[in-house]
Amino acid sequence: ILPASAFSAYLKISEGCSNRCSYCVIPSLRGAARSRPPDDILREAERLAQRGIREIIITAQDTTGYGRNLKGRPRLSDLLNDLTQIKGIEWIRLLYAHPARITADLLSTIAENDKICSYIDLPIQHIDDAILNAMKRKVNAAEIRQVIAQIRHIIPDVALRTSLITGFPGETPARFNRMLDFVRQTRFDHLGVFTYSREEGTEAAGLRYHVPEKEKERRRETIMHDQMEISASINTSLIGSVQEVIIEGKSDRPDYPYIGRCRRQAPEIDGVTYIKGPSPDIGHIVKCRITAADDYDLFGKIIRKSSYTSLFAVSNNLLITQEFQHNMSRIKKRVDICLLQGETIFKAHLADPSSCAIIVSYSGETSILNETIQYLKANKIPIIAITNIGDNTTARLADCVLRICTREKLYSKIATFSTDSAIVYLLDVLYSCIFALDYDANLQLRISTSK
Ligand code: SF4
Repeated sequence: ILPASAFSAYLKISEGCSNRCSYCVIPSLRGAARSRPPDDILREAERLAQRGIREIIITAQDTTGYGRNLKGRPRLSDLLNDLTQIKGIEWIRLLYAHPARITADLLSTIAENDKICSYIDLPIQHIDDAILNAMKRKVNAAEIRQVIAQIRHIIPDVALRTSLITGFPGETPARFNRMLDFVRQTRFDHLGVFTYSREEGTEAAGLRYHVPEKEKERRRETIMHDQMEISASINTSLIGSVQEVIIEGKSDRPDYPYIGRCRRQAPEIDGVTYIKGPSPDIGHIVKCRITAADDYDLFGKIIRKSSYTSLFAVSNNLLITQEFQHNMSRIKKRVDICLLQGETIFKAHLADPSSCAIIVSYSGETSILNETIQYLKANKIPIIAITNIGDNTTARLADCVLRICTREKLYSKIATFSTDSAIVYLLDVLYSCIFALDYDANLQLRISTSK
């Protein structure tokens, strides 16, 4: 085990590598890949949890090659699922996933399990087919593009890291430019670039057309310069979002006295999040609203905890309410559905007294809505009113909900949304507002995405 911080630890799941990339000495030095049995790994993870470790970072020379040499060929996705069962472990993060072995099953496991960070480190090394072939990477450019699209499709909020090599033998200016264009188009969240290093005894050392050191470095700096702008723009887009942050210690900045990392940031290789707000406990995971960003780091403020832990959606439109529920599940938020009947609402609230109600996609008589709101009020159930589809009819209904709720002083948010896929992102923002910001602030928020 290598310690990442007092609260995070690397957990190596296999040793050695069977890939034999042409430039790499690891297979000769450490031999073929040998995976550790799942029980052995789980026992180590339990010991780490008992020591106070909250985040486990899964490593190996090639994590997605896990299990291939073991009897029964245990799957990485099953191992990840088993790790989530360990009490005390809050985050699990996957590094060094080879692009040739990413499976839909693995991606679904990451997408569906709240403890597994939506973060993938996918070292691709290059994007030019001739170079990938000479590197013996076992994957071509089209397959790499396809796997990235698949990752982003299955895990929409993924933070994607990669690493690249500049100046591999035979990397002409045109081949380098292909990689540079790819970096600009793909917009990785995090990126590391290394210059090719000629290792004695490797196949690549004997290749022709080596690139001068100065040129390798110039190409590395060119990519890093572009990536800095991409990283800054992605970080800026996170301003206003709510992120979970593991507090790792005190910082040397008086304006943001604590330092930590959000789920999007791996230790040592990505940026950090600077924090201000009520004194947090070191090692704890807190919710923060991102208030500023620079090229690589984020800045946030701790937000006070909400007393509401779950939602139930109240509506007379079952189909659209189910769609709302489905969208929320895509961002890993649970919502129970109730129709506009006092008894079902009451049961849902009784099952979780710290829940609040969302009135969603109401499209009927306002008198029934009024009655429902009175019922919720009489039972002291907090309400947030939302309507969907940004057309004129529902906009009018939204206004009606707004007026009733304002009169009754019952709600804090109202949003209008369409069924566009952007709603997943908007709901995440909305959910964060509801659960992490001041529920009682009586703030009116209208989100409209009726494109
Ligand atoms: Fe294995 Fe990575 Fe070396 Fe390729 S570069 S042989 S995947 S350790």
